[in-house]
Amino acid sequence: MDIEMYDVIILGSGPAGLTAALYAGRANKKTIVLGGQTLGGQMAQIAKLENYPGWSGDGLGLAEFMKKQAESFGAKIICASATSVDGDAESGFNIAADDGKRYVGKTVIFATGASPRKLEIEGARELMGRGVSYCATCDGFFYYGKDVMVMGGGNAALNDALYLADIARSVKIVYRRGAFTRAEEVLRNRIAERKNIECLFNTDLKKVAAVPDSDKLVVTTMDDQEIETDGLFVAIGHEANTDYLDEGVVRDDMGRLIPGKLPAGTFVAGDVRSSIKMQIATAVGTGCTAAMDAIAYLNSHE
Ligand code: NAP
Repeated sequence: MDIEMYDVIILGSGPAGLTAALYAGRANKKTIVLGGQTLGGQMAQIAKLENYPGWSGDGLGLAEFMKKQAESFGAKIICASATSVDGDAESGFNIAADDGKRYVGKTVIFATGASPRKLEIEGARELMGRGVSYCATCDGFFYYGKDVMVMGGGNAALNDALYLADIARSVKIVYRRGAFTRAEEVLRNRIAERKNIECLFNTDLKKVAAVPDSDKLVVTTMDDQEIETDGLFVAIGHEANTDYLDEGVVRDDMGRLIPGKLPAGTFVAGDVRSSIKMQIATAVGTGCTAAMDAIAYLNSHE
């Protein structure tokens, strides 16, 4: 098996990982990003970015820009995901990846982000990709002029509903509480202004099924209403991606990694980090901090 040795190994190619790569590369540290299967993480799925200062375009465009910038300072960015992390600061961190290689690092920055929480109701798993979707910007295109439903009541759900309202004929948002109190006011106001968005509050879904001999779905609410729809978009939060780490690594009650409680020589940035507001701007900030900590650690151990 091939083994490659680095000063800094960054896991994840979202805004946190790419920022860390820029800083580590620019500090002349031999740096590699194991960027997962798609560049940019969740950012790559944003059709129109409005709240990252200095950029107005799509999220993938920003990811590509950040990648080039990091590469211009020598960072290597590859398409591979870590499957395990062993070793320690003394002997080096040994990272196995799904490209069949092993990467050894003096330091590691965890920036593997979070993934959409899956809907665990009858039928949801079977119908994923066949009417049930976790990505409005990826799949919304298929619902031109159709009727869709969005489940959830946070910023992601409201953003998805607004995006879909430009494509679909109608959008119903199903939310288990009485008002969108956890979402930003600017999004709530936009939802209220849209004539083709209807909000179903104080209800949840208990079942989704395919309508026989059609592409439609029928969802059943907790109060036994049956509603037909062409697509169900689920936006019920995110879970930190830490499967590649063993259970001994301390997590908070949301499964995120806690800076200061990680093994010496390892650092964390972005949505996988405890107590973060999940935003591109915060991911960039923590990516910068993690890289500067890794650089200081390397310099003090030379
Ligand atoms: P979130 O803010 O945690 O909201 C998750 C939503 O899903 C909540 O409405 C929650 O309901 C609901 N939910 C959770 N589990 C559920 C279940 N089992 N069944 C039904 N409903 C369920 O998550 P998010 O919207 O994915 O956002 C994640 C983070 O990214 C947040 O910090 C958010 O602010 C940020 N974000 C920001 C923007 C932006 O434009 N600024 C865009 C997207 C995301 P309850 O309210 O009842 O718990």
